[in-house]
Amino acid sequence: MAKFSILQTFYASAVWRNLRMTLILEREGRCERCFTISKPEDIVGHHKIELTPENVHDHTISLNPEKIEIICRRCHDEEHDRFGKRKAKTVYLVYGPPLAGKKTFVRQQMRRGDLIVSMDLLYAAMSGLPEFDKPDNLFQNVIGLHNQLIDNVKTRMGKWSNAWIVGGYADKFKRERTADELGAELVFINASREECYSRLAVDERLQYRQVEWRGYIDKWFEQYRE
Ligand SMILES: [Zn+2]
Ligand SMILES: [Zn+2]
Repeated sequence: MAKFSILQTFYASAVWRNLRMTLILEREGRCERCFTISKPEDIVGHHKIELTPENVHDHTISLNPEKIEIICRRCHDEEHDRFGKRKAKTVYLVYGPPLAGKKTFVRQQMRRGDLIVSMDLLYAAMSGLPEFDKPDNLFQNVIGLHNQLIDNVKTRMGKWSNAWIVGGYADKFKRERTADELGAELVFINASREECYSRLAVDERLQYRQVEWRGYIDKWFEQYRE
């Protein structure tokens, strides 16, 4: 099996190494951030658009001199916050009623390399089924992995940048205790009961489960305490 990831293979390729060296020579070994001159081995070709497995094959991004900065190691470490100087890992506890748009919010706010802990997403990953189709018999396994991840977040284990814990957390006591234990900032995704109902009514994934889901929405609002 492949020993290197797609990105590692790209950075090791002759075409990238040649381009990087060409740019260093053209730009006279001068860091474009702090203007110090360094030896080529201490200079990094930094992609202004972060490379991902999806865009690395797009040469207008990965091999485009206009999208590559030549910067010294120190400035590059700072750019990527290699030593976590800028800020420590931030943990967010994102809560609110069913169908309020919590995961959508997280997807808009998160950065590549963040960690998401969500029962819905774990269920989908562990069952191979579409989101919201959650077989009861898998509950113990899903909650087991969920709690394991919560533990990882608590101890800041791993190299993730920020973590997003997503759930209903209607119960004030449980919500605040969890946030406390995790050192998390609370983020409330607000939606009225009527807004949740109307989202449910148009959600194709739930078109045959309207009664069940109205029940989940009602339950959240009954339990919820500010
Ligand atoms: Zn520099
Ligand atoms: Zn970089």
